[in-house]
Amino acid sequence: MAGFETEKLLAGIRDWVEHETPTDAPQAVSGLMAKVATEAASFGARVQRIPGRDGFGDHLVVRSPWGAEGEKGILVMSHLDTVHPVGSLERMPFRVEDGIAYGPGIYDMKGGAYLAFSALREIAGEGRNTALPITHLFTSDEEVGSPTSVALIRQLAAEAKYVLVTEPAREGGKIVTARKGAARFEIHVKGRPAHSGARHQDGRSAIEELARQILVLHAFTDYARGVTVNVGTISGGTRANVVAEEAHALVDMRVPNPAIAEEMVAKVVGLTPVGPDVTITVTGGLNRPPYEKLPGIAALFDHTRALAAEIGFDLQDLKTGGGSDGNFTADIAPTLDGLGVDGKGGHTNYEQLYLESLVPRARLLRRLMETLE
Ligand SMILES: [Zn+2]
Repeated sequence: MAGFETEKLLAGIRDWVEHETPTDAPQAVSGLMAKVATEAASFGARVQRIPGRDGFGDHLVVRSPWGAEGEKGILVMSHLDTVHPVGSLERMPFRVEDGIAYGPGIYDMKGGAYLAFSALREIAGEGRNTALPITHLFTSDEEVGSPTSVALIRQLAAEAKYVLVTEPAREGGKIVTARKGAARFEIHVKGRPAHSGARHQDGRSAIEELARQILVLHAFTDYARGVTVNVGTISGGTRANVVAEEAHALVDMRVPNPAIAEEMVAKVVGLTPVGPDVTITVTGGLNRPPYEKLPGIAALFDHTRALAAEIGFDLQDLKTGGGSDGNFTADIAPTLDGLGVDGKGGHTNYEQLYLESLVPRARLLRRLMETLE
């Protein structure tokens, strides 16, 4: 247990941060996967690389040296892709100031990924093993909704007794025991074009119709029920003097549980025109199902909280509107999320982690690996 040191952990995190890995740069992401695979093999882990496809990088499965084939174990999930484009390091280089380390992806989530990796390496390096075998999955496409990893995630979750996700902690070190589901929609309105001077009355403005639909959509927001709808982009029309034939919008919706998800998705898909002679086409749907703090998750949280108390900190949990790969596993195996580093600024140019969180959080991950059975 004495093994973790802030400086050593930080050096390892720095190394991963300084290898830039935007989701849409598959070779860069695969490069870091290769490096992690080499590091994992050096402490006896069994590694498997799943070649990238559809413009994404490789995924990597690291299995503890112990554990039999088919034995249910602990699945640790981390993504190594970030939202920061290549070259971000020049504008926001890794740096440490007043107990805070900055860098692209340091908080979401290379910090947490590295802590869990270090916990497994420590246990293996001491020649110990744990009651349950440990599988650490590193994915390359989380930041765009995990299109090429979701099947693998669900397959590995089905082989797991517990799932631990190293997304960052939030709001003062809280971990995540419930997440809203996320839906995405594209709205396409088709009207009828007309000369806006000579034949205005013949036109059916797609823009006017979309404007009305936006009000309908935004009225679906219900904070008390945990439903939010956001029309995030709009476009349409061609010129000021043409009644717009087409208009589009991209919509994000968050829902707290499966029943409300079903109800609200049906409402959006079933949008009907407000005005005459226009058509509305809605595509899309739920891309990350919601998960709630089910009894198995509550028990796992209580266990984790007791471990944190032994280490010396008070662990709280929360429910968040943000999605993660935990959304794909919570209905399969008890899932705890937000076990990564504490900090703030995910997806921004001031992404940061708090150095004082590194050792306690690494210890917590290690204790979870050692005590779950
Ligand atoms: Zn993340």
